[in-house]
Amino acid sequence: MALLDREHVWHPYAATPQPVAPHVVSRADGVRLTLADGRELVDGMSSWWAAIHGYNHPRLNRALKDQLEDMAHVMFGGLTHEPAVRLAATLASMTGLPKVFLADSGSVAVEVAIKMAFQFTGRGRLLTVRGGYHGDTFGAMSVCDPVNGMHHLFSGVLPEHVFADRPPREYDEGYAARLTDLVARHAGELAAIIVEPVVQGAGGMHFYHPAYLRLLRELADEHGVLLIADEIATGFGRTGELFGCDHAGIRPDIMCLGKALTGGYMSLAATLCTERVARGVGVLMHGPTFMGNPLAAAVASASLELLRERPWREEVGRIEAGLLAGLAGAAEAPGVRDVRVLGAIGVIEAREPVDVPAVQALVMRHGVWLRPFGRLIYAMPPYSIGDGDLERVTTAMTAAARSL
Ligand SMILES: *Cc1c(COP(=O)(O)O)cnc(C)c1O
Repeated sequence: MALLDREHVWHPYAATPQPVAPHVVSRADGVRLTLADGRELVDGMSSWWAAIHGYNHPRLNRALKDQLEDMAHVMFGGLTHEPAVRLAATLASMTGLPKVFLADSGSVAVEVAIKMAFQFTGRGRLLTVRGGYHGDTFGAMSVCDPVNGMHHLFSGVLPEHVFADRPPREYDEGYAARLTDLVARHAGELAAIIVEPVVQGAGGMHFYHPAYLRLLRELADEHGVLLIADEIATGFGRTGELFGCDHAGIRPDIMCLGKALTGGYMSLAATLCTERVARGVGVLMHGPTFMGNPLAAAVASASLELLRERPWREEVGRIEAGLLAGLAGAAEAPGVRDVRVLGAIGVIEAREPVDVPAVQALVMRHGVWLRPFGRLIYAMPPYSIGDGDLERVTTAMTAAARSL
């Protein structure tokens, strides 16, 4: 398996073959991954924010099998079906945004959001903040952090948008004034402001003060610009509120959802908007082949139902407390610049880029699966993780921090 992988397969952000072979997983159950060599690891990643209920969940399995008996897929042009309609109605009621476009991945949901904003305003420029991540397709990539997003590899083909500095964790009048000024200066050419609310994920796991979201909402209204909230990572309770925007008590004009939408079972995303935006857009020029896929929609509805039933607020609060307590010791390690926790997200930021294979091997010896990147060793475990397993994750992270 490892040999064939090496021969034929690209992995994320990697050369082929990559210098360090990936580990072969043979089973995933609850919060545990079983490797082909028999090792069991506690999963600290939720497969990149997605598997919030843990793996191999009987209710999600059931939803998928039941749907499979009726239909796996039909085209969505001119046809519709209960799984997609039911999911759209549920998402509309959860978000207060009544119009739902089902997309096949987070990046595509961001492309659709950008298209909506361009079609609605007739303008073609975006404003965002540094340190963001919105996906890997060209439109999404153009609003990722220019340095982390490696814009230099694609200079000349990427549209140039307007970048504000990364918003600080604490409220800062000076930053707010500069942001206000930047939006005002570019207002005439802007279609939308696009940000990840409160937590910037793959762009650096940075947290910022919700007051800036309120400010962006005000500025967007004042200048007739749309506000796009990319909730693909922050959605569905991860930050301690159902959506990142809830920390600020605002509602965006357009919202992108993905990642945890199907509980980590398959790729599905959604772009939602207000009635006003939908009317203004009219015919939206987008339509993926697998749009509204019934299997994905059915498992998403089951995942949202599970989320409604589970005491996720208490669970995320318990994980937050466990991460805070468990990572406190890491802050004193000389190689560590910052330790931060919000909701079920725990981050150790090193002073220098970490040796990913070395850190990964170390945490695996502690029986834990993590995937560090850049200067970051971080975890966002499934909400179902128990206290003992969570302690294992924080112990491994602290050991990794001390090894830097
Ligand atoms: C992961 C992510 C995306 C991209 O989603 P994909 O499904 O990987 O295309 C977009 N925005 C944010 C905030 C993300 O975390």
